[in-house]
Amino acid sequence: MPTQTLPSVCPMDCPDTCSLDVEVVDGRVTKLHASNLNPVTQGFICAKVGDYAKHVYSDERLLYPLRRVGKKGSGKFARISWDEAVREICTQFTAIKAQWGGEAILPFNYGGSNGMLGQGTSDTAFFNKLGASQLAHTVCAAPTTAVARAMYGRMPGVAFQDYVHARFILIWGANPKASNIHLVPYLKQAKAAGAKIAIVDPRLNFSKNEFDLHLPVYPGADVAVALAMINYWREHNLLNREFIAQHTVGAEILLQKAEEYSLEKAARLARVEAATIEKLAQMYAETEPAVLRCGWGLERNRNGGQAVAAILAMPALLGKFGKRGGGYTMSNGSAYRVDENKRVEAVPTQTRELNMSQLGKILLEENAPPVKGIFVYNCNPIATMPNQNTVIQGFQREDLFTVVFEQVMTDTAVFADIVLPAVTFLEQKEIKKAYGSFALQYLEPVIAPLGEAKPNEEVFALLGRAMGWEDRAFHEDTEAYLRRAVASVGNIKNLNFEKLQKEKIAFFDFPGETPIQFVTSFPWTSDGKAHLSPSALGENPFGYLENASDDFPLTLISPATGKLISSSFGEFNLPELFLTMHSADARSRTIKSGDTVRVFNQYGEVRCRVKVSDSICPGVVSMPKGAWRKASQNGQTATALAPDTVSFVGGGACFNDARVEVVRV
Ligand code: SF4
Repeated sequence: MPTQTLPSVCPMDCPDTCSLDVEVVDGRVTKLHASNLNPVTQGFICAKVGDYAKHVYSDERLLYPLRRVGKKGSGKFARISWDEAVREICTQFTAIKAQWGGEAILPFNYGGSNGMLGQGTSDTAFFNKLGASQLAHTVCAAPTTAVARAMYGRMPGVAFQDYVHARFILIWGANPKASNIHLVPYLKQAKAAGAKIAIVDPRLNFSKNEFDLHLPVYPGADVAVALAMINYWREHNLLNREFIAQHTVGAEILLQKAEEYSLEKAARLARVEAATIEKLAQMYAETEPAVLRCGWGLERNRNGGQAVAAILAMPALLGKFGKRGGGYTMSNGSAYRVDENKRVEAVPTQTRELNMSQLGKILLEENAPPVKGIFVYNCNPIATMPNQNTVIQGFQREDLFTVVFEQVMTDTAVFADIVLPAVTFLEQKEIKKAYGSFALQYLEPVIAPLGEAKPNEEVFALLGRAMGWEDRAFHEDTEAYLRRAVASVGNIKNLNFEKLQKEKIAFFDFPGETPIQFVTSFPWTSDGKAHLSPSALGENPFGYLENASDDFPLTLISPATGKLISSSFGEFNLPELFLTMHSADARSRTIKSGDTVRVFNQYGEVRCRVKVSDSICPGVVSMPKGAWRKASQNGQTATALAPDTVSFVGGGACFNDARVEVVRV
């Protein structure tokens, strides 16, 4: 059979959402490339998805439903039929509900391969009907989403392609080279045209000729730096008082709080030079157009939400909106104005909400009722949730009935009682909203499902029918859910299912193709203004809490890398994790590159090798996000060292509040 090239779309948890051409030879996927359908992503894709065939045909791929036959976590399973699996799940959940109530069942999911059908359709209907506990999705983007929505509503951000118009680009807490690669060519183009680029990050991911200023802020101190910059603008009369008066509310509280932060104070807290903060404040204030790329790195600590609020207020305080290439970009995920009620007919629920970032606690501590059944999908919590050792202990509970619905045998699936095989995106129909650009895309299967793998919407409908439920949600097929998804999107003109199916992509119709904030895209707040001190910040807006530890003097960060997307591809793409450490910290501990070390704190210990590099600031060490247990020498990864405390704003995970010590083994 000749080689076929078939269209698809990458629905992984990445802002770019590339349109793809998939090479299929003899019914087997060989390679994935960029297609020209989406102009923002044409030309190239990341290596990890280029090699997606390794994931599809992995030895770890789940092809049939399985039942545990060994001890919990032993990885011993026997193949069963879908009928048997569905019957057992329904029997167990029904018994749990009868004895403990529906809230004793916890659906546990996140955005593994996250199209519009993958979550929030028949799964929601199923768990709502059961009366299961609700899950607060806080492991990523909870503080930023809470703050951005409170400040600007669902205002679309500056498009990547408009970065070429900016003359100053501030990248704060983001690494586009790992997880937003299609922004990089626009940064290069802007730089070649004379733009200045500044980066705020404890780790430098750019080479010398790619940026103009680097501020290696100590994790957790971003709010102090942002407030000091704001105070500097106030003192030097650089604020745009006209814009503030006309388009914002709440500036007084922010400006008053900022008065507490001199450049020197912020520099001390952030362990940087005051002169560098001043330089950054000057560059931002004096250059037009100026755009801010706010990432998710800065939210991963107790002060995260407060920092995001101060940083997102900056373009408003300086009046940087109103021109192409000016303003800010965060997630555009909520810019689509999706009507969730149109996506699925689910009974409303008022059950308790549990914070996913405290899963270990939830499974181990007394709760009323205790969690007795957990259904994990689109997610690998043992690799990704904080305080890994408690999460593992929780999944070891013999009285916990665990279902894992997955593509490959993950660290979490090993602990399941029942494993269900899921399709990959190359085997399904889906609709994907890009959260970086402004495109809605449709994808069709390029190969048949492997083994007996099924898509999410089908499996939860199957479970609902097996429960004997008559609700429409359990009697609709994939096409009905696709149509519902399209109908739920409120602000793409002339959008309908047939058109999207034919054309495969639909764009927002901003005048001039991309939005200009405060000209063609506006805050979707009650009064159409930017709320600079929203109530979401609580009683101590812009508060800063220090987090020092005498026993554990180093801060561990665990950023995304070019190898994994959260924990996806960990079965083959990150065989060994390394700790990155500054030369001064390594020297004082007589550690050199290649040495095996213990990285430890009160929560756990990771044994791995070290890379000494001055790309990271002193006092901070780094380990990749999402690594699987086999990547370390003792089965614990960065999450084993992360506390399960949550941020005040948004209840977000505080990975970067991990304080550790490192010793050579
Ligand atoms: S992970 Fe991101 S960059 Fe890679 S193919 Fe998917 S959308 Fe594109």
